[in-house]
Amino acid sequence: MALSKKEKFKIKRTEMPLRPSEVRNKDFMEVPIGYEDVEAVVESSRCLDCKNPPCVKGCPVGIDIPKFLEKVYEKDMQAAINVIMEKTQLPAICGRVCPQDEQCELVCVVGKKNKPVAIGNLERYVADYARYHNLLPKITFEKELDQKVAIIGSGPAGLTAAAELRKKGYQITIFEALHKAGGVLFYGIPRFRLPGDVIDAEIKAVTDAGVKIVLNTLIGRTLTIEQLFEQGFDAIMIGTGAGLPKMLGIEGENYKGIFSANEFLTRVNLMRADRFPEFITPVVMGKKVVVIGAGNTAMDAARTALRFSPESVTVVYRRSREEAPARTEEIEHAEQEGVQFKFLTNPIKFIGDDNYNLVGMEVVDMELGEPDASGRRRPKPIEGTNRVIETDMVVQSLGFGVNPLISSTTEGIELTKWGSIKVDEDGMTSRDAIFAAGDIITGGSTVIMAMGQAKTAAKGIDKYLSQRRQEAQQDSVIS
Ligand code: FAD
Ligand code: SF4
Ligand code: SF4
Repeated sequence: MALSKKEKFKIKRTEMPLRPSEVRNKDFMEVPIGYEDVEAVVESSRCLDCKNPPCVKGCPVGIDIPKFLEKVYEKDMQAAINVIMEKTQLPAICGRVCPQDEQCELVCVVGKKNKPVAIGNLERYVADYARYHNLLPKITFEKELDQKVAIIGSGPAGLTAAAELRKKGYQITIFEALHKAGGVLFYGIPRFRLPGDVIDAEIKAVTDAGVKIVLNTLIGRTLTIEQLFEQGFDAIMIGTGAGLPKMLGIEGENYKGIFSANEFLTRVNLMRADRFPEFITPVVMGKKVVVIGAGNTAMDAARTALRFSPESVTVVYRRSREEAPARTEEIEHAEQEGVQFKFLTNPIKFIGDDNYNLVGMEVVDMELGEPDASGRRRPKPIEGTNRVIETDMVVQSLGFGVNPLISSTTEGIELTKWGSIKVDEDGMTSRDAIFAAGDIITGGSTVIMAMGQAKTAAKGIDKYLSQRRQEAQQDSVIS
């Protein structure tokens, strides 16, 4: 018998089961365990099947959430994955790393009286079920077109644009600077949040459809954009992300033992320092590790450092816990695992010994003043509170800027004042036939936002190339 709305509102949300913190903080295996079949069905039963579902508007790629939840409730996983994959090519990834609490789940109607429906957990459940049971729908298209599109960067933006354009029949080649595809999904987000086999499987679905990925090719150095056009590409999409780390710029920043979060995470995730000596690329680890910043990247760096068993890992942040940009869940997971936090604390300078090894960091206590331009209360130092924190390793995690390599080696690409690439409503840059999407246009956002922009750019490229085909046909008729 169908449940009434009132009854549905009363069902408790099934929280994601996690591995015990004292076990998981010593290895790199995935922290969440995933739903059992029965848990997924119960959780899906909480959906009210709203007429104008706000959750769908809250999802940057517009997944028909009530429809897929209904299919989970009916235990029809083939239909559930088909509904999800009408809108996303990376469902197991999105189900794991999307900031759902700020997107689809934030606006879920059930959330007004109870906790929202666990949309992300259910998306992950369906995607994993479909992968294990070979139910993932394949990319199909009506006919092969001979127009060629080059995509620069194999992160979520590049992969999404590639899949969308392949569905139209275009010939797609992705050029990737690194030796492994996936962008931040692979080199930034740690394996205990996003396992490698999950990423590889979703990339394989794209290459199985005929998309080529050329690795170890840095566009702007190995090949320029102009050379790609000379090679016969009809359109190009730049999806190179925002991988340029920001540093504090304070005294002593060159002492040994000071890393950017990007460098540290890349050494562990991409160079596989987590599996040293199987992989001969270790990372230098300190005993008293300090991570500066409190965003998701900082939490990833702190939790990664913890897994190498140092004496302590401390996150230092100049604002209060309430202002910390990381997802609440990420901060909670870090705390459960043993990461310590020093809020309202600002680094002033790094201190080294005679051999240029980091031995400490001078900090000052902060208090919150009036709100600044971002609406957050501006932190200001409290006089006379300077002190030294003992540390032999610091990971700076202060956000990212965009790498100027492509814009500086390509004529006519206009930038914003922050250095990101300007695009129009079709995702086209100021240069004809060159499009851009993802962090390179926002300067650092989320996986699903990058994917949403990539879909816009793919539509723009299709529109542009369709016009070129029509013009070519008209020309051939005239001549
Ligand atoms: P990227 O993922 O950065 O991919 C760009 C690709 O382009 C890279 O592979 C790069 O090697 C390649 N490239 C760069 N320059 C060139 C060139 N010149 N030639 C060829 N290739 C090039 N978002 C979430 O939604 N949830 C999270 O939990 C989350 N956690 C994060 C954790 C960390 C540590 C970081 C750094 C970011 C996190 N983000 C998260 C943000 C998210 O990963 C990004 O917003 C997203 O990956 C952007 O996708 P993209 O495709 O634009 O760029
Ligand atoms: Fe929510 Fe992300 Fe899934 Fe969209 S892709 S429904 S925002 S979890
Ligand atoms: Fe279901 Fe919540 Fe979406 Fe309504 S808003 S359709 S209850 S998931």
